[in-house]
Amino acid sequence: MNLNEKYLEACGIVHAVIQKDVFTFIVMESRFTETKNTNKEILKDVKTAVSNGFFEFEHFHSESDVFGFVIPGMKKHWINTLYLKHYPSWHIAGHIVHELMHAMGYTHKRKYKRKLSVPYQMGEIVRHIGKFTYAKKYNGNERQFRFSDPGPIEA
Ligand SMILES: [Zn+2]
Repeated sequence: MNLNEKYLEACGIVHAVIQKDVFTFIVMESRFTETKNTNKEILKDVKTAVSNGFFEFEHFHSESDVFGFVIPGMKKHWINTLYLKHYPSWHIAGHIVHELMHAMGYTHKRKYKRKLSVPYQMGEIVRHIGKFTYAKKYNGNERQFRFSDPGPIEA
């Protein structure tokens, strides 16, 4: 599978996961920080983000812990090939939904206490459900979880 196919597979996982009842249940039961929106509004926003369409995929290479990023106003998602090559598709799916939530205006702090923000938690929820749903298709172990982006970049 080439990198483009892998990215498209990850988009497919996002699309499938957000339609699951378990996804709705977990989102509604989660407690999000760094937002004033209700869980119902957040759920609506993730579905709107996906129905608005996925990003055009671009790649770059960096030895840093930057997994990928988007630039506000641009429908492009840069992903570090260092991670795209080695991480399973459900992990990429988590990153995609993280960036989709940025595109919907959700932000998080640069470093501390950001794990409960909408982009991070939504990424985690999709990654976990994606893993349980699709892991049987893959052999081998998932690499140590690393998930970072530089946060929203001012255009
Ligand atoms: Zn982010």
